[in-house]
Amino acid sequence: MPDSIRERLAEVRARIARAAGRARRDPASVRLVAVSKTFPADAVREAAEAGQLDFGENKVQEGLSKIDALADLPLRWHLIGHLQSNKAKKAAARFAAIQSVDSAELLRKIDEAARTAGRTVDVLVQVDLAGEATKFGAREEELAAIFEAGKTALHAPITGLMTIPPAVDDPEHARPYFTQLRTVRDRLLARGISAERLRDLSMGMSHDFEIAVEEGATIVRVGSAIFGARNYPR
Ligand SMILES: *Cc1c(COP(=O)(O)O)cnc(C)c1O
Repeated sequence: MPDSIRERLAEVRARIARAAGRARRDPASVRLVAVSKTFPADAVREAAEAGQLDFGENKVQEGLSKIDALADLPLRWHLIGHLQSNKAKKAAARFAAIQSVDSAELLRKIDEAARTAGRTVDVLVQVDLAGEATKFGAREEELAAIFEAGKTALHAPITGLMTIPPAVDDPEHARPYFTQLRTVRDRLLARGISAERLRDLSMGMSHDFEIAVEEGATIVRVGSAIFGARNYPR
């Protein structure tokens, strides 16, 4: 692994481009979200100096403190972790995107808070494909109600779907989940949900982002391959 954030970013971008090439996709159709959770604001600044503008955080409070510390930079912050409804207001006021919406109720709360704050926040609907009871995310049968609520959520426009596959040792074993998210997207399109609401597929992390790109990811969320190993997993 190269030892600067700049070099590791360049390598991740090159790997995204090669994976896109294999799938005959335009590399510019894949947005890299650098997941900075547990890393300090200085590490984010270093990545920003290397041209990285999209960052992901999984906790509202940690994200807000970095948003404040780096307010001089034109960054786009994505909330990628579970959002408790009592923190929806804070998150909707500051993050550019919330990728972890899994109920119509949460969507309405975010919409209301964003409207009050006089802004919009992009929303991705998190889908639980493995049906693991302990995991967050909506089941496929719950999606219709969320997209229905999305019709009136003018300050929280849904832009697509996100998933976190179960942890697997071999990244190839994540591929079926990525294929499945694409299939879920296609079924929603066939049921009349507009393409604008289903533009994004957020899938793929350090371990498996190239496979996700081959399967159609438009957003990959990459942390440790850019910032290095985290001291503790979460
Ligand atoms: C931590 C995290 C990532 C990034 O994980 P890495 O393995 O460090 O790339 C991506 N998505 C979510 C939801 C995360 O919590």
